[in-house]
Amino acid sequence: MKPKPRINIIMWRFMGSRLTSSTRCMSTSTKALCRFGWWDRVSPAAKDPITGVTEAFLADTNPHKINLGVGAYRDDEGKPVVLQCVRNAEAKIAGCDFINVGRESNATAVGSKLVEESVKLAYGKDANVVKEGTFAGLQALSGTGACRLFAEFQRRFHPESPIYFPDPTWSNHPNIWRDAQVPVRTFQYYHPVSKGLNFAALMDDIKNAPDASFFLLHPCAHNPTGVDPTAEQWREISYQFKVKSHFPFFDVAYQGFASGDLDMDAQAIRIFLEDGHLIGCAQSFAKNMGLYGHRVGCLSVLCADAKQAVAVQSQLQQIARAMYSNPPIHGLLLVSTILSDPETKALWVKEVKVMANRIQQMRSTLRESLEKLASPLNWEHITNQVGMFCFSGLTADQVDRLVREFHIYLTRDGRMSMAGVTTSNVSYLANAIHEVTRYN
Ligand code: PMP
Repeated sequence: MKPKPRINIIMWRFMGSRLTSSTRCMSTSTKALCRFGWWDRVSPAAKDPITGVTEAFLADTNPHKINLGVGAYRDDEGKPVVLQCVRNAEAKIAGCDFINVGRESNATAVGSKLVEESVKLAYGKDANVVKEGTFAGLQALSGTGACRLFAEFQRRFHPESPIYFPDPTWSNHPNIWRDAQVPVRTFQYYHPVSKGLNFAALMDDIKNAPDASFFLLHPCAHNPTGVDPTAEQWREISYQFKVKSHFPFFDVAYQGFASGDLDMDAQAIRIFLEDGHLIGCAQSFAKNMGLYGHRVGCLSVLCADAKQAVAVQSQLQQIARAMYSNPPIHGLLLVSTILSDPETKALWVKEVKVMANRIQQMRSTLRESLEKLASPLNWEHITNQVGMFCFSGLTADQVDRLVREFHIYLTRDGRMSMAGVTTSNVSYLANAIHEVTRYN
């Protein structure tokens, strides 16, 4: 028997109105149909806390204004920096035949080079996993894209498992995993009184989480607190992960910014590697190469053997293919050139140190300035914390006063991007912080 034709009711009405008379094609009823309120239920999304700070800063015309919101490096004049290693890499690829390189097969080869070099950077150039190739890896759209790919991969293969984030964490982590439909939990991390690590509580939460849970860890320069575990504490965390069969997912957005040394900043990853964990790793070159707009990153997942690596790789590729197919090639060429050319890489290593040292210097100067002002508060945490951020301990009200009275912009949790502090604004900043905190 022939199946009956089924016509969608809206289509049927629409066709009917067109067919009855061509002059009635744009009749009121047709217009009304076209005006179906598709987006009537959409209300504006909540503003991202960090983007909101930048917008307010840009709108302020006061000459003394300071932006401590954005987590991107600035030089001592408060200007964004194009690293010399990037300029050199740019010159090296200038003659490159982009049309040819952009062809699918070539793009894959350049992508593999980037993955290979990124993996060496994270796990160590002599790591067995690198030599044996027992990892799956993909170029990703910077750190955010790498996290998003992994979140999707996690949901596909462990749909029931939640991911645990440190409390606090980068404000976009919960958004990324929630959008991938992964249940999101937190583990204790920061101690507001000591403004350091709440190690005992952290260990308790690791022990109390269901076996085989996913944990997101910041291996260095924790955002937003600037508080990192010591090597010894990482060893204990790694041991406990083994006991509980948890999966460590490292989000490496600031490699080099904590100590100024790329290997030292990867020590947490290397400790877990030594302990035989399978590890996931999101790497970003936005900060440590100053390539924010190029969106270059890498996702790697260590696997039990080469066969598993092939399977995982193909799944990750399938996820990326459906999301954005391939990433853009220009930034990819820049990063793989910097990482694979020894001279350019050596220059990058030096430039990372310079950036980290400048931030460290600003930490010391800010603390000294506050102490010279005879602040009644303890500011040791400014120099104890590391990386781009200082979790100042300022309350939301104090931050509001900094904005209102001093044109100093930061997120209301008190996170200050130390990259926004310069030789010429540090004493103005110290005075302002002193004013809003002195009577508490
Ligand atoms: N992870 C952390 C902890 C971050 O702070 C950031 C950037 N703020 C990212 C990932 C993502 O960075 P991007 O996508 O710009 O590489």
